[in-house]
Amino acid sequence: MIGIIIVGIFLSLSFVNHSFGYNVEYQIIGKQFSKNPLICTYEPVLGSDPYLKQWGVDRLSETARLAVQDWQSALQQNEKRELRDNWRIDYRVLTDKNIDSKKECNVLIQFESMPQEKSEWYSVLGVTYSNYNNTDVKLIKIYYRDVKICQTNDAQYIYYNLCYGEDMLISEKLRTTITHEIGHALGLGHYQADDVKVNAAWAKGGAEADSIMAVFSHENSKLMKIKPIDIEKIKSIYTPNGFKSIQDTLKEQPTEIETIPEPQIVQKTQLIPTWVKNNAKWWSEGNSDDQTFVNAIEFLVKSEIIKVSSVSQTDDSDTIPTWVKNNAKWWSEGIITDGDFIKGIEFLAEHGIIKIKS
Ligand SMILES: [Zn+2]
Repeated sequence: MIGIIIVGIFLSLSFVNHSFGYNVEYQIIGKQFSKNPLICTYEPVLGSDPYLKQWGVDRLSETARLAVQDWQSALQQNEKRELRDNWRIDYRVLTDKNIDSKKECNVLIQFESMPQEKSEWYSVLGVTYSNYNNTDVKLIKIYYRDVKICQTNDAQYIYYNLCYGEDMLISEKLRTTITHEIGHALGLGHYQADDVKVNAAWAKGGAEADSIMAVFSHENSKLMKIKPIDIEKIKSIYTPNGFKSIQDTLKEQPTEIETIPEPQIVQKTQLIPTWVKNNAKWWSEGNSDDQTFVNAIEFLVKSEIIKVSSVSQTDDSDTIPTWVKNNAKWWSEGIITDGDFIKGIEFLAEHGIIKIKS
């Protein structure tokens, strides 16, 4: 049930001046349900987060309900009336009173203010774990705290770093993130172009992706929607009966039981696109030149992931200091955080080693 479908697309995008071609890979993780799935949300506990208020708790549960409804309506649209129930997705909020019914849930959504792993701060909006606790249950974690730019300074420089504020992600961003992660739980992988510039434009909002399963960032997350290709893809997984099992709809047929061993798959939504990290790794290992790395960093600056306070025109150095290469290596290996890496890059930009073209 695991397959890769390559769809060839040729498009002209407004963020570049010329047309070019790229291929899109849209992977299927696999068939996940053999009955109408029940998606459950743990109601966040007040007190687990000092900034969380009752309205926030309500908003999180309600937004998850809307995301579930988005999938259900998109799947039921254009289906004959009698087939619509095949695509029903149930939703339940788990509270103290009904927590015992947790074992009926096929997907669990858990809200956390921010990732526990520091290396995932500011970049990961949500994660889907398949085979949670070695069961068929999928666990979705949603990190609901919004990021902002904080200013700090020392004697010489002003630094602009990402930090977590007190605000919750706006509803549209939350809804998109949950919808995307539910897509993983239903069996969809990422929708990715083989051109890094295209992926980056989708992630940052420079161009609109044809799928909710494109990787997106904080900036673009409210623009992402379930698209026809997503529905087509899910319908290609769950044929011919939707989420219902074959014995429910065709009782006279022999029962076909399908067990698919699945590796634990973790899908993450990155603020800094993966290709930048890959670039940093290759460069630090000497497998790509300085210019390729600088281009990747310029992308981060231009898309305002990295804020630069000033760009010096007078620095006479045009080589990248060794410590930056070490930083890039450590960052690509997850040893240092995005924030530490960003500080190093700010140094480059402020010394004019990276020229920011407008
Ligand atoms: Zn994802």
